[in-house]
Amino acid sequence: AKEMGGDRFSFYEEGMSSETEKRLEIENHLRYAIDRDEFKLYYQPVIDLKTNSLSGVEVLLRWQNTDLRNPGPDQFISVAEQSGLIIGIGKWVLEHACKQVVTWSQTDLPPLTVAVNISAKQFIDGDIVESVRFALRQSGLPASRLELEITEGLLINDTAEIRDTFMQLKKLGVHLSLDDFGTGYASLSYLKRYPFDTLKIDRSFVHDIDNCNDSVTLTNAIIAMGHSFNMTVIAEGVENLHQRRILRERHCDMVQGFLYSPPLPTDQFVSWAKRYAEM
Ligand code: C2E
Ligand code: CA
Ligand code: CA
Ligand code: CA
Repeated sequence: AKEMGGDRFSFYEEGMSSETEKRLEIENHLRYAIDRDEFKLYYQPVIDLKTNSLSGVEVLLRWQNTDLRNPGPDQFISVAEQSGLIIGIGKWVLEHACKQVVTWSQTDLPPLTVAVNISAKQFIDGDIVESVRFALRQSGLPASRLELEITEGLLINDTAEIRDTFMQLKKLGVHLSLDDFGTGYASLSYLKRYPFDTLKIDRSFVHDIDNCNDSVTLTNAIIAMGHSFNMTVIAEGVENLHQRRILRERHCDMVQGFLYSPPLPTDQFVSWAKRYAEM
């Protein structure tokens, strides 16, 4: 702001921390990101631990903006949420992700499920049911192959509207997944009230499996609980064979992480999947 106008802006400037300025700058760039074609979707493989086969992908958003030096989701998603821009961005992600997996089905890749991260704001204000219905209709993707990942944070609001939205999505036939499980304040009663299909163990637990017995005990308990509610349990952030062995012994259903692959752009994901199928 300083370069722009000497004293005229000094009043405004003093009240603004550099953190606030940074967020404003991100917000200004975010407004044009879709029109300027700056977003790209990356895909991380999700592996079935029983069969070792590729079962699906999680879609992760990347923003190619050289002015801001390609900020990661941890830098821009919260700005997108606060500004409401996440609603438009989220629709873009849903539509592109669904189309991409349908395109892959027409090649020699197996039919993959696709997991899309949905922020609380999108779930509450974004007419999510209509967005999902539209993305499915437009792409032709069967609803059962779309999984929506939401975090515990959303459930803290626990209102009739949220529960209604949840049920409408279930009626459409999409799967619902509870992301980052164990990091927030999810009370176990949520698991009863919201019939999730999938539970994702946060990567902080998986990370600690290596050197902390308590984490093994916790992971074990989470898997057993997930199964007792008939949920599929996915462990994220699996980076080594030791972690995978423990997860397999405890009957975790699926894994994803750098042990297999980081999130990849489309063409690299396809090459990865072909190589993996030949292994
Ligand atoms: P998340 O949903 O928990 O996604 C998993 C994050 O862990 C991703 O970070 C992924 O790249 C990273 N990861 C995967 N495997 C490993 C591993 O083995 N080790 C380690 N250390 N990390 C691993 P990413 O892509 O930076 O995304 C960060 C967060 O941003 C996501 O966390 C999600 O909450 C949010 N996000 C990303 N894309 C979207 C999106 O399209 N919409 C919304 N609403 N949020 C998104
Ligand atoms: Ca996720
Ligand atoms: Ca997660
Ligand atoms: Ca996370």
